[in-house]
Amino acid sequence: MPDIETVQEAEEASYRYMARPVDVSQLIAGMNKKNGPDKDTLGKIKKPKFLSKQERLKQEDLKENKEELKLKKKILPVKVEQENDEDDTRLNEENEKKDSLSKQSGSKFQFSWNEGEDTLAGYNPIVSAKVSALLRRGQISKVALESSYMGKHWTEKSLSEMNGRDWRILREDFAIVTKGGAVENPMRDWEELNIIPRDLLHIVIHQLQFPLPTPIQRITIPNVCNAKQYRDFLGVASTGSGKTLAFIIPVLIRMSRSSPRPTSLKIMDGPKALILAPTRELVQQIQVEAEKVTKIWSRESNYDCRVVSIVGGHSLEEISYSLSEGCDILVATPGRLIDSLENHLLVMKQVETLVLDEADKMIDLGFEDQVTTILTKVDVSADSATNRQTLMFTATMTPVIEKIAAGYMRKPVYATIGVDTGSEPLIQQIVEYADNEEQKFKKLKSIVTKYEPPIIIFINYKQTADWLAERFQKETNMRVTILHGSKSQEQREHSLQLFRSGRVQVMIATNVAARGLDIPNVSLVVNFQISKKIDDYIHRIGRTGRAAKKGTAISLVDGAEDETLMRELYKYVKKHDPLDNNIFSGGAKNKYNINKEQKNEIIY
Ligand code: ADP
Ligand code: MG
Repeated sequence: MPDIETVQEAEEASYRYMARPVDVSQLIAGMNKKNGPDKDTLGKIKKPKFLSKQERLKQEDLKENKEELKLKKKILPVKVEQENDEDDTRLNEENEKKDSLSKQSGSKFQFSWNEGEDTLAGYNPIVSAKVSALLRRGQISKVALESSYMGKHWTEKSLSEMNGRDWRILREDFAIVTKGGAVENPMRDWEELNIIPRDLLHIVIHQLQFPLPTPIQRITIPNVCNAKQYRDFLGVASTGSGKTLAFIIPVLIRMSRSSPRPTSLKIMDGPKALILAPTRELVQQIQVEAEKVTKIWSRESNYDCRVVSIVGGHSLEEISYSLSEGCDILVATPGRLIDSLENHLLVMKQVETLVLDEADKMIDLGFEDQVTTILTKVDVSADSATNRQTLMFTATMTPVIEKIAAGYMRKPVYATIGVDTGSEPLIQQIVEYADNEEQKFKKLKSIVTKYEPPIIIFINYKQTADWLAERFQKETNMRVTILHGSKSQEQREHSLQLFRSGRVQVMIATNVAARGLDIPNVSLVVNFQISKKIDDYIHRIGRTGRAAKKGTAISLVDGAEDETLMRELYKYVKKHDPLDNNIFSGGAKNKYNINKEQKNEIIY
């Protein structure tokens, strides 16, 4: 191809390299004859004729041509004036040049309409301009652009204006994925669907001060509160995503739909809602969260709703006493609940809502049999009129959970709140190497001073906890408490209370505290000893970065860790790096040959 620089050269080139086209009507006339074009017709078709430039200029009105070129220039895409180093800008420019050349190089086309009818004359160049160029030049805002092309965003629409696409976008915005058939759309806010009674609404928005539902609350509430069919529900969402209120609110909504029961009936029929959770701490935390709502509800709406908990560590006498005034919501660990049922401390004839919270953890802790026993017992002892529903929540979906869902739930709605999107907790993960526990301790001391309390330090053995706590108290100014399974229930509750209230700054804990516990504002989690399973690691670090706050998780490894676990950890740290600041130290990589293997992988 010749070098073409100017429009004129392009024009000339087009004549030099192209034959003038044969008139189409003549060609068709010839082709349409049955046996192909006859010689006569072909003979009549004029041969292409080459014209000199002068001849051409005579035939065409050059002046008019130039004016048209000017007009074309006007409507061509807006040129990016300044070369900037973005590749796509340069590409756009090149494309634009090509565009304009090809447009300019053709001979003038004779339209079959008058020039006066040409709507191009009033053409607004902004519409044909490349979007990226316009945005860069600030000629148009992104929002305006989106709404002119795509219509209003769902947040700007009324409920009746919402179409299928809006609902899809809303689900994407909150990373909500559902299956199970006839799934209701998520709530756009607390009020809109009129599911939540006014008194409860007021408590959630004004007293708890949660102006908007979290994604798991948005999808759970409309799906489980339909009075025609109280559906079963399986929700998968990471820790800190607001699962507790996602089931407490529906429990209260359902309760509010029937008249309050006198104490005698409560004792005779048992609770309306049963919530199972894997650990004592979690049970108590759910009770506290539920009572935040029910206490105000009882006071302001006279709906007396009693929440009782049953956990190991409480004697049967204590349990019996706490049930003596009846209960509406019972929160329990599976083992202790079975004890209480076997000892006839309570009946469960009217359980409308059965909730399995942290189902994966319950399975991990070996409660599968107890859970299924309870599921069966509740069904057997229920009044036939009770239309019971089961809600199950878990941070991870496992085969056992699917099995339980298939065996004990009726056509549940499955909802997953994505972890890859905005809802991933904002945790910086750091893995550091230290030669031995002494070095680890030195590192630990220098680390904790850089972070604001509350801080949680995880260890694997209770002996380590005692040793570490003692040294820590001696060598720093920080106050420390310990939480592990060998402590009595009272001691554990006391530890948590001290930590929650800020009277101690550091909590040293085993895996007991790893799941489900919600201690607000934990800025740092240290794995002084790394957990033996990656799942536990994930739950441990999930104690920080809760409720959209940023957190840090530092793990100290010393070469004694399991190599497979370390590789899994490396993968996890690499993959989950929402703040783009994770560190997996060279020392740790070397110790576990993580880098070397990488190099091998690259050779091909
Ligand atoms: P999960 O059970 O999913 O781990 P929680 O139910 O413990 O999470 O909730 C985590 C935190 O978020 C709690 O402190 C809770 O009070 C808070 N929370 C719950 N719902 C909302 C909401 N709608 N808006 C803001 N914060 C909320
Ligand atoms: Mg929870």
